[in-house]
Amino acid sequence: MAQLVSARIRRRGLMLVLSSPSGAGKSTIARNLLEEDKSFELSVSLTTRPRRGSEIDGVHYHFVSKREFDRQRDGDALLEWAEVHGNFYATPREPAEQAMAEGRDMLFDIDWQGADQLRAKIPADIVSIFILPPSMTELKARLMRRAEDQEKVIEQRLKNAREEIEHWRKYDYVVINNDLQVAFNEVKSIVAAERLRRDRRPGLFDFVTGLLDEKV
Ligand code: ADP
Ligand code: 5GP
Repeated sequence: MAQLVSARIRRRGLMLVLSSPSGAGKSTIARNLLEEDKSFELSVSLTTRPRRGSEIDGVHYHFVSKREFDRQRDGDALLEWAEVHGNFYATPREPAEQAMAEGRDMLFDIDWQGADQLRAKIPADIVSIFILPPSMTELKARLMRRAEDQEKVIEQRLKNAREEIEHWRKYDYVVINNDLQVAFNEVKSIVAAERLRRDRRPGLFDFVTGLLDEKV
């Protein structure tokens, strides 16, 4: 009952940013979160990278040519964009702005450059989590196990991982993804606490007014 009352109080949407070096497990954690918590919607990014075998256009990414990417960037259709591992990635502006306007929660699987840009643009709504691997050896093993990229690509991603990890300090939270279930529970705890923040719940004003007006 107490939980139901709390859920009825109007709040602003949560813009949850997950970043990590490639292979640390952020897409796995994001996928689990989207399955379990239906109030989250994934921000589907644009990318110029070739589609992996397991990926679906429009679901995992919008796969576009560099020409189409440039067209959208020049038309101010992108909320942020970055070059990562030699490919271009971007967050489409319209769905994110609409989610924010309607107070819905959105999940962004983006790198540190994108996180920097979103923090600068919408500082009040962003909650950022950096996912770390338990070791570099395990990171390499995961990239190899995923087996969706060529060896050359894996080597480049591993080389870039050290530079990406350097950005951990700018994130609100850091989760070490050793055991997936533990890491996932930590992410869920962060989300639960962030949704309860006073400044994210404008509906509390009405609730407290009603509480104080109540005759007993
Ligand atoms: P990212 O999105 O960060 O590049 P993925 O989510 O694709 O990484 O994970 C990379 C690989 O590691 C996948 O094969 C995934 O199943 C696996 N993985 C993710 N988390 C763990 C974990 N805690 N323990 C072992 N393997 C994991
Ligand atoms: P991948 O090619 O493995 O799917 O993603 C490579 C990197 O690009 C990951 O760190 C991922 O988070 C990041 N990325 C994916 N979409 C976006 C985006 O829209 N913007 C930015 N800045 N990075 C993104």
